Amino acid sequence: MIKTSINQKGIATLLIQMDNVPMNVINEGFARAFHEAFENVATNNEVKGIIITSGKKEFMAGADLNMIRGLDDAAKVTEQTMQLHQLFRRMETCGKPVVAAINGTALGGGFELCLAAHYRVALNESSSRIGLPEVLLGLLPGGGGTQRLPRLIGMQNALQLILEGKTVRPAEAKKNGMVHDLADTREEMLEKAENFILENPKATQPWDRKDFKVPDGKVQSPNGFMIFAAGSALMMKKTYGNYPAAQAILSCVYEGLQIPFDKAINVEVRYFTQCVLSKESRQMVKTLFFNKNAADKGKDRPEGYKSAPIQKLGILGAGMMGAGIAYAAANVGIPVVLKDVSKEAAEKGKEYSLNIWNHSKSKGYISQEEFDKKSALIFPTDNYDDLKGCDMVIEAVFEDRELKATVTKDTEAMLEDTAIFASNTSTLPITGLAEASVRPENFIGIHFFSPVDKMQLVEIILGKKTSDYAISRALDLVRALKKTPIVVNDSRGFYTSRIFTNYLAEGFQLLSEGTPAALIENAAKAAGMMVGPLAVADEVSIELIYKIVKQTEKDLGEEIKGAHKEVAINFVEKLKRPGKKAGAGFYEYPQGGKKFLWPDLTKHYPIQNNHPDEQTVKNRLMYIQAIESYRCLEENVLRFPEDGDIGSILGLGFAPFSGGALSYIDYIGVEKFVKEADRLVDLYGERFRVPDSLRSKKQVVA
Ligand code: NAD
Repeated sequence: MIKTSINQKGIATLLIQMDNVPMNVINEGFARAFHEAFENVATNNEVKGIIITSGKKEFMAGADLNMIRGLDDAAKVTEQTMQLHQLFRRMETCGKPVVAAINGTALGGGFELCLAAHYRVALNESSSRIGLPEVLLGLLPGGGGTQRLPRLIGMQNALQLILEGKTVRPAEAKKNGMVHDLADTREEMLEKAENFILENPKATQPWDRKDFKVPDGKVQSPNGFMIFAAGSALMMKKTYGNYPAAQAILSCVYEGLQIPFDKAINVEVRYFTQCVLSKESRQMVKTLFFNKNAADKGKDRPEGYKSAPIQKLGILGAGMMGAGIAYAAANVGIPVVLKDVSKEAAEKGKEYSLNIWNHSKSKGYISQEEFDKKSALIFPTDNYDDLKGCDMVIEAVFEDRELKATVTKDTEAMLEDTAIFASNTSTLPITGLAEASVRPENFIGIHFFSPVDKMQLVEIILGKKTSDYAISRALDLVRALKKTPIVVNDSRGFYTSRIFTNYLAEGFQLLSEGTPAALIENAAKAAGMMVGPLAVADEVSIELIYKIVKQTEKDLGEEIKGAHKEVAINFVEKLKRPGKKAGAGFYEYPQGGKKFLWPDLTKHYPIQNNHPDEQTVKNRLMYIQAIESYRCLEENVLRFPEDGDIGSILGLGFAPFSGGALSYIDYIGVEKFVKEADRLVDLYGERFRVPDSLRSKKQVVA
């Protein structure tokens, strides 16, 4: 696991190379082996200094979350964390210079190990990331990160990085002082590490020197006061108190920086232990680490279908979605034929990618050569003939059933029998769309989210006749794009659009009942949603909701009733405020300014004195999504509860701290959830009725 070598100059190298794991991680075995290897060289009189580097492509991922998940009592967490601290402290006080030669990504505990070295030199690769992202899993850096980083780069800079869980490229890490130097090759990196050792035989950490001062002043100073007052306010504004880890990080830095380093470590251990045992970190680690990883690795892959690359991807429609999918594919090296009704429209779609790559080039993330290579991968056209040879085609034309049927037929005429035809529809059932196909077994839904380059989720939808082969090919594509798939069964709106429309509809309903719009929006965010229902309706356009209602009525042959329909019709037909694109929706969008709620909203939807209070608004907006998710599970639209959790967080911005829309029920507690849902039924109607099977459950997601 740790290979030790000592060269003629007396420089020892500890090469970390763990067996049977893709990336090095910190676990009990590692800590023991590393401690032993380190002691051996630290106590060897021949050794002048120690270089720590990795024998794998990346430096180190961080703490092994399997180990953290297994810890369930405070004494155990404290004991294990203290052992790691003793090791790191030994590294920095052993009397010999220690250098971290960071050959690739170093995250969390991996970077904390580097912070305990006297010098850090990183390989300058733009694909590498360095930082402390623990907060994104409801944790805090528990290996000294909350104490060393602020002492190194200042409280303000460190808090920004740790509170956001932001990871940076090596070049940025150099700029902000997280690493001392960069190298272009492994040889250069090791040479720089050696030079540091030879030139600094008595290296110490800044915080172990008598004259040490935190770069941006003391905590108890006017500047310190400003940093913590502003930091606290900003943190509350962003988290609404839903993330105990964020609060704990602030406390760690605030308390720890006022006392000597060794005592400060105890403060961190105390807060870290609380975070590890918190409900929020348990839920986040479960969904966003373990379950997401299982989905990424292909848990839904049908047996007997080997994975194979997508050789050539056709995309119909170079609009917002088509252009985004083309970028995502070409960016990972898949050749794309991008077809629209005219060459100009197709070229405009390609421009979207060119703009992003141009930006990356100007930042130095990609070279001119890479830019040329990527650009050559997208072939814009208006000709169906050019789709010949594609092993998969995704249609992203307008949301219109007849048009989709026509393009399906015209495209399939160009394709081999084995090619997959996929629809990116956001609402139309796949089984119905597949009726236009001559090979419905090769027809599948591959639902991307907007903006495609930023959104991690892809929802794969199975029509009645979709084959296992088609599923495996769709998973091949998603894996190549480095996105996270969920595989769901067909239904109107599948999983995500169904939950999404329920969320929006509840927001519209609340507005129509005379609830202040600002209360609706703020309550949604305070409950953990990324965006309020009115703001998000404006984003996707109220017109879209309007069209969905109309299409559903047409398809089902029955009238849809509800205040949400009335609000959508009112905004589109009468008020002519269809959403953000038109510059007017629930919000006003002043040119160059910040959006604000349309002041005349109250004229059309006057505020009523008996509107629901904030807690009820929160519950209505969250419960409606959780209950609809549970119905999807009952109806087998969701094949596994974990998919509902992943889909709701990554696709819809559902409260991550709860673990997702189904785990939300567990987060609240099934009994308490059902009781409140029953109250909502009495007050607001049957849509809050929970399926009977939920009443006898102890837990929804294992
Ligand atoms: P868009 O209006 O931006 O683009 C549609 C494109 O299709 C246009 O460029 C149009 O010229 C082109 N087109 C029309 N007929 C064509 C034909 N016969 N052959 C080739 N191209 C043709 O629409 P969009 O927002 O990109 O949505 C496309 C699809 O993706 C829809 O089914 C939509 O429901 C779905 N979708 C949209 C979103 C979203 O947030 N906008 C998210 C997920 C899925």
